[in-house]
Amino acid sequence: MKTKPEKIYDGLGVSPGIGFGVVHVRDAGSLEIAEYPISADDIPNEISRFREALDLSLSQLEDLKHKSRTLPEAAAEELGFMLDANIHMLKGSRLVRGIEAYIQDHAINAEASIQYALNQIVKGFQSLDDAYIASRQSDIHQVAERVLRNLGNSALTAQQELQQNSVLIADELTPADTALMHPESVSGFCTALGGPESHTAIMARALGIPAVLGVPHILRHVSNGDKIIIDGTHGKIIVNPTDATTLIYQQKSLKIKQKLLRLHQLHERQAITRDGVKIGLMANVELPIEVALVQQNGGEGIGLLRSEFMYMNRDTLPDEHDQYESFKVLLQAMDGQPVTIRTLDIGGEKTARSLIEDFGDSICSPLGMRGIRLSLHRPDILETQYRAILRAAAHGPIRILLPMVTTTDDVTKARRILKDVATRMRAEGQTVPETLPPLGAMIEVPGAALAADSLAQVCDFFAIGSNDLTMYTLATDRADEKVAHLYQPLHPAVLRLIQFTTQAAAKYNIPISICGEIAGNPIYTGLLIGMGLRDLSMGASNIPWIKDRILHMDEETEKRRVNQIMQETDSRRIAMLLSEN
Ligand code: PEP
Ligand code: MG
Repeated sequence: MKTKPEKIYDGLGVSPGIGFGVVHVRDAGSLEIAEYPISADDIPNEISRFREALDLSLSQLEDLKHKSRTLPEAAAEELGFMLDANIHMLKGSRLVRGIEAYIQDHAINAEASIQYALNQIVKGFQSLDDAYIASRQSDIHQVAERVLRNLGNSALTAQQELQQNSVLIADELTPADTALMHPESVSGFCTALGGPESHTAIMARALGIPAVLGVPHILRHVSNGDKIIIDGTHGKIIVNPTDATTLIYQQKSLKIKQKLLRLHQLHERQAITRDGVKIGLMANVELPIEVALVQQNGGEGIGLLRSEFMYMNRDTLPDEHDQYESFKVLLQAMDGQPVTIRTLDIGGEKTARSLIEDFGDSICSPLGMRGIRLSLHRPDILETQYRAILRAAAHGPIRILLPMVTTTDDVTKARRILKDVATRMRAEGQTVPETLPPLGAMIEVPGAALAADSLAQVCDFFAIGSNDLTMYTLATDRADEKVAHLYQPLHPAVLRLIQFTTQAAAKYNIPISICGEIAGNPIYTGLLIGMGLRDLSMGASNIPWIKDRILHMDEETEKRRVNQIMQETDSRRIAMLLSEN
């Protein structure tokens, strides 16, 4: 058999490390379809379940089309035609009518009806020997698969069935898709779309899965079964590597593992600078499986629990019991160390099927109905979270963090609801802590940072979210690979906002931490400590690297360097100053 030539492609290395494996193209391969009868009474429900999946598929395709516009002209045009054809098929075509008729006439579930309608159309095509028609056939399959996935947790099933050492390749993977990956079977992934601070990238780092995003036309360059190496540190993928290349990468991977092993020996040591300043290192957590990593890496608590991940990959909202159980497990695992639970921060790229219908496009807009705005608009959701948190407080120290705060009103309203919930729970005879958990605000909107002195008077603590703060200050989408080069946390405007917030917290004597991605990147550690931050929260696997950096620095030197940096107006010059030892 002829060996395929080695090919190397560049992209954005968003999750470090080297993954070796076999290509698994996401979107290829047919899904397992179960067929079951439904009662005559359930037929209208089944049809509306199908329509919901249809609407979701349409909005995903529209979204993809929107993103594809940022590709180079020829690619945008080509992808645009394909997506238009897919959208057209979902808008009342014969396929859609056929599926609804099938559910109605045969009283079987939507998934099986899709399969039958699809087979009918494909049979018609097969009688014609025409290349163009053949390509339409694969379009129809693709569209049907999307609707099938949206009917249930097929993505989950598909990923659970992955062989060990699979490397997932896709046009795009959402944070919800990434949350379903298991590091034991997925040794890396690569997509055409996605930016370095997207939640997909953050999830990859949290799970320790090497990832490269933003590789143009990646689906054209690989086939299922190809051997592949993902170099998430340098943003390279090597398809069908030669033996010599594989050996080089095996050696690189070994070096990284050896360094990690050395760093893990620091486990028992506290993070203290050479001149004696103690820095608290906590973890950002999205999924329960990460808690073990927090312990392994010596995290001193959870500085950010992104509770929105509990709302993804399901059709209904999690209830009080579900949430209480998850929080309890987390608090028990942390064994007395503090856990900061951020209330629902759905919105932007983080979507939940159960909320899309209510909020539509606004929930997908970074400037729309998201974070605390959504919770105040739907107090039932916030109240359920509060109830679960207040019950869980019996199992360990807890703090409540509000996302996307912009005004003092956001905090006072959220606090009033917290007090009301506690009063009601006490009246019901539930145990609620006498002193309610501290209520803090994420400072991640420039307006909130500039108003930090007034916010500090209504908040019990601050957590700086440098990811969104950078995005909103520089008007640069953190999830868009095309503007990744403009996403600059070292921009003087971002640094001034961080400094102003830190000073406001000091003036009003409230605790402050930082939980954006810069907290877990050793390049920024000196800067943050020199600015006066004493608590950093990051992906658990970054903790040893940051501890190592802190053990080798002096706070005094960093303070002096920050004084110099804050006079600078150019991010490149700031980066240079930071890299000088
Ligand atoms: C941030 O914006 O910096 C942050 C920590 O929140 P998230 O990344 O979840 O938006
Ligand atoms: Mg944020």
